[in-house]
Amino acid sequence: SEPLLRVENLRTQFGRRDPLVAVDGISYDLRAGETLGIVGESGAGKSVSVRSLVGLIDDGEVAGSVEWRGEELVGAKPRELRAVRGSGIGMVFQNAEAAFDPIETVGRQIVEAVRANRDLSKRDARTEAIDLLEEVGIGDPAGRFDDYPHEYSGGMAQRAGIAMALAGEPDLLIADEPTTGLDVSVQAGIVDLFRDLVAERDMSLLLISHDLGVVSQLCERIMVMYAGRIVERGSRKQLLDSPRHPYTGAFLRSVPDVDVRKDLEPIGGSPPSLDDPPAGCRFHPRCPAAEAGVCDGAAPPTVSFEDGGEDAERHEATCHGYTDAHPGGDAFDREAV
Ligand code: SF4
Ligand code: MG
Repeated sequence: SEPLLRVENLRTQFGRRDPLVAVDGISYDLRAGETLGIVGESGAGKSVSVRSLVGLIDDGEVAGSVEWRGEELVGAKPRELRAVRGSGIGMVFQNAEAAFDPIETVGRQIVEAVRANRDLSKRDARTEAIDLLEEVGIGDPAGRFDDYPHEYSGGMAQRAGIAMALAGEPDLLIADEPTTGLDVSVQAGIVDLFRDLVAERDMSLLLISHDLGVVSQLCERIMVMYAGRIVERGSRKQLLDSPRHPYTGAFLRSVPDVDVRKDLEPIGGSPPSLDDPPAGCRFHPRCPAAEAGVCDGAAPPTVSFEDGGEDAERHEATCHGYTDAHPGGDAFDREAV
C-alpha cells in the first residue's frame, strides 16, 4: 500500500545569512497503522522536524517534500494545511494548555474542533465532545465539560489536548514530547492511553521524545536523530538489542531502562550548535570510536544491516565505522557499539 506520509529530504533552516539548519535532509515513510518514534537529545531538531511536516514553522524555510496521502504539503496554502491538521493529522504537544484558549471552556473548544471538521449539529457535537473526553479518560466528562483549562490538572489537560487532536478523526497522531514534564505515574497513564487509542482507532502514531522508555513502549519502529540528521533507524528490537551507531549505543547507556536498573553513563560533551556543526560525522567530537582523518572528513555513509530475519525492518546506521576507511571497521561488526 502507499504510505500515508512520505518525507523526502526534509530540510528546515532559520535565517538566510549564516543559516541555522535545524533539520538537515531527513527521509522516511509512515504507513497506515504504523507506530514510529524519533528519539534524541533535546536540540537535535526533532520538534522542528515534525512541525515542518504540517506547516507549523513560521519564521523558517522548509524544503524537500512531504506527501500526505499523495498530496504535497511543502509549499501548500495555509488553508490546505489547516484542513490536513484538522482532519487527517492530529497534533499533541508537550504543553497541553497551549492547545486551549484560557478564557473558553474545554468542552466548547472541543465542540468547535469537532464542528470545524465534521458536519454535526451543535447538540451532536456536544455529545461527541463528551464522548471524546470520556474516551481519553476524563472522569465525569459531562461534569468537567464546562471547566476552564486551568481547572484541569496537568495530566487531565494533556488528556483533553489528546481529545482535541482526535476531534477530526485523524488517521495519524503526531505527538511531540506528550509525557514530558508530567509526574511519572501520570506519564504511565498517558502512555497507556496512546496505546489504546492507536489500537482501537487504527491510527498511525509519530511520536517524538527524548525519553527512550516512552518511545520504546509505543513504537515498533524507531529513528535516532542527532544534530539535525537521522543517524540510525530500525525496529524497536534492532535498536535496543543491537544498536549500530555509536551515538545510539551511548544514548542507550545514558538513559534508565524501562524495567531494569543499571549504571547510567552520561554521554560526554554536549550536542553541537546547529549554526556551525562539526564537519564529517557530527558526532565525532563526542564519539569514543572517532578516527581522525576519517570521521572528521567526508560525511559518513549509510550502512544497512541484516538482522532479525527476512521480515525485519530495514536497519541502517550512518557511520564510517563499518567501512574500510575506518581502521576499527572489523571490530564494529563484531561488537555492540
Ligand atoms: Fe563515531 Fe566516526 Fe561513526 Fe561518527 S562516523 S559515529 S565519529 S565512528
Ligand atoms: Mg522538542
